[in-house]
Amino acid sequence: MDVLIDRDLCIGCEACVEICPNVFEINYSEKKAYVINPEGASLQELKDAVESCPVKCIFLEDL
Ligand code: SF4
Repeated sequence: MDVLIDRDLCIGCEACVEICPNVFEINYSEKKAYVINPEGASLQELKDAVESCPVKCIFLEDL
């Protein structure tokens, strides 16, 4: 599974980081999330992160 973020939409709220801290990290100078390790959480946790994103800018893609 690949994990993509539309960083134009991301508001840096950290919801994804709270659910999947090994997958997402916030770049505080940009106030945007980015992916550090797409394999750092279970599929269910990734889906929970997608659901938690208030601007729906996280996408899961089958490889
Ligand atoms: S939950 Fe969405 S808006 Fe919030 S930091 Fe993560 S990607 Fe950005």
